[in-house]
Amino acid sequence: MFRKQCLSCKSPDLREIVNLGMHPMADTFIPADRLDEGDRVYPLICDLCGQCGQVQLRTVTNPAERYSEFDYSYTSSNSKTSQNHWLEFAASVAGMIGLQRGDAVLEIGSNDGFLTEQFQKSGCRCLGVDPSPAMARLADGRGVNTLVSLFGPACVSQVEKTLGQKPRLIAANNVFNHSNEPLEFALGVKALLAPGASLFLNCPIGCNRWRNVNSIKSTTSTSAISPSNTPSISSSPSASASTTWKRWTITAVRSVFLSGTSR
Ligand SMILES: [Zn+2]
Repeated sequence: MFRKQCLSCKSPDLREIVNLGMHPMADTFIPADRLDEGDRVYPLICDLCGQCGQVQLRTVTNPAERYSEFDYSYTSSNSKTSQNHWLEFAASVAGMIGLQRGDAVLEIGSNDGFLTEQFQKSGCRCLGVDPSPAMARLADGRGVNTLVSLFGPACVSQVEKTLGQKPRLIAANNVFNHSNEPLEFALGVKALLAPGASLFLNCPIGCNRWRNVNSIKSTTSTSAISPSNTPSISSSPSASASTTWKRWTITAVRSVFLSGTSR
């Protein structure tokens, strides 16, 4: 299925900027007993929205095909380098926001649970959300509880019920930029962010998404978060950041980020 409207501002003004031909899903490998099926391939075309500047894939795929029909292959603990990256991320974020034992932590796109486990080891009450049953099984093996689902408003009540409260920290690394429904994603985050809570988004193409967020605000007419309900600002991209994770586009939520996403 081809996208007819911008996934952010809903404009039909989508213009092709890159066409790389037919490709299979990333991180999806046909198991030996299903080799006769072959790879399913899709047009890898990037469109630019003429209204808001959002770059997006034209082809809309079924999430189940990527996350459920085949075991998702990428794990966040797949190398010592990767593990060190997440260990550093966990320590840095915990220090930055003063995370305490007993605080609730939600990781969206928690994969095999390696990062969530680090917060859990620090005494936090943790929950991961991930659409891959295979990853949830791996997380379960390290004692990390996972809600198997794509993240969105439908997850909110279950997250609160499992954690017993709204999370003090929400982390989503290399996840928001993969969402087919970024507005739904933002609505879910907004519903879960309590005053003083923090959201960390790690987006490799975050600058583009950041523009997109501003466009969300300007093209909707709904209520803003009141000052008393404004989440804290925990971090911003820093050109002088020395750590690896900061060289990615790390952004924390600002009130402006979510102020226009209610419906
Ligand atoms: Zn747009």
